[in-house]
Amino acid sequence: MHAPSLPDRTIEAYTDVTGHGRLERLRSLAETLADRRILHVNSTATGGGVAELLRSIVPVCEDLEVGTDWLVVDADDDFFEVTKAMHNGLQGSGPPLTGEMKATYRAVTERNAVELDEEYDLVVIHDPQPLGMIDRLEETMPDAPIVWRCHVDLTDPSEEYLAFVSEYTDRVDHAIFSRSAYEIEMDAPTTIVYPSIDPLTEKNRSLDEGTMATERDRMDPLSFDAPVVTQVSRFDPWKDQFGTLEAYRRARESVPDLQLALAGGMAGDDPEGEKLYEQVASKAVDDPNVHVVTDLPDARVNVLQRLSDVVVQKSLREGFGLVVSEALWKRTPVVGSNVGGIPLQIEDGETGYLVDPDDASGAGDRVADLLEDDRRRAEFGENAREHVRERFLLPRQLVDLLEVVVDALD
Ligand code: UDP
Repeated sequence: MHAPSLPDRTIEAYTDVTGHGRLERLRSLAETLADRRILHVNSTATGGGVAELLRSIVPVCEDLEVGTDWLVVDADDDFFEVTKAMHNGLQGSGPPLTGEMKATYRAVTERNAVELDEEYDLVVIHDPQPLGMIDRLEETMPDAPIVWRCHVDLTDPSEEYLAFVSEYTDRVDHAIFSRSAYEIEMDAPTTIVYPSIDPLTEKNRSLDEGTMATERDRMDPLSFDAPVVTQVSRFDPWKDQFGTLEAYRRARESVPDLQLALAGGMAGDDPEGEKLYEQVASKAVDDPNVHVVTDLPDARVNVLQRLSDVVVQKSLREGFGLVVSEALWKRTPVVGSNVGGIPLQIEDGETGYLVDPDDASGAGDRVADLLEDDRRRAEFGENAREHVRERFLLPRQLVDLLEVVVDALD
């Protein structure tokens, strides 16, 4: 296992974006946990929402003097093929789960658990990838409660994957889901915690004019002098970049100079990314107004979300979809599928529009409606900022998370 490098964070820095009461609550929870040591485990240090969350949560906990470590499992491509199949299976469609896949999973998670040479008072396991470590943790840290923090959309899981994962989740002490619709049958208590974005990161904070201009120019030939619609997502079948292309083509019938930016990164634990990127890029190659870009630095993602006229999130399944709150926080309205965590974030007709995930043309029509109405976009943008401020900023999530930790240690 390895520990990712982390930025510095202070709780004080959140004073401007969060009410005093919430920060006080955090301090008081932190006091309760003063002598405790907590470990978070996940499967990638970069790419995707979980890494994004931990990169902020862990240093803020440290500043609150709650001893907190973050370790990432070490694994090779064979393991990540299996865990991506598990992720897909839990979201509804994976390949058959073979004995060989289960053996690979058990071997790698066991090896990582053996490497763990420190003791903790509580372990938070993020998503299904590291769950297999439980076998060993039960022996080496028998008194440490295990919290499973599931970020996956579990609305309609495939039975065989759910059965396999349940071998482990049946033994956790507490589980956290992002929506009540994801709760699976289990013995342990469960809590719903909405994820959040960190308003202070390079990706989300406001930027000075110079940085805005530099990052904007670096996106050339994408031009912000004409309308831009954007989706920022890993290249993953669930993110439905093909549907976004279709929606863009539909919107373009009414807005002829429209451009589409498809920005995507590759997560370290996602072996499907490269192949999907090539498929998406080949579909877009004949249209100079479609810009498929990869591995943008955070400041450029920030500028892209800020300067786009509309953001789209055309997912078919979506555990939460931090990108939605990221755009809304920047006052950019979002047209998103009515799946998973997206309807928690978009208020239909107030901050953007919700569309049926099968209806790419409908999404295109909503994008066109917004592009043709500057006032509505501005109004939605203001609503969006306040909606995210209330519900989806980091201090709120941290309060919810630490409350679960305090309960589990009780
Ligand atoms: N992201 C990024 N660059 C990209 C694509 C995604 O920085 O090219 C970030 C995005 O800004 C967000 C996270 O990766 O912070 C994705 O989280 P989300 O919850 O939307 O989806 P996940 O990838 O976890 O399914």
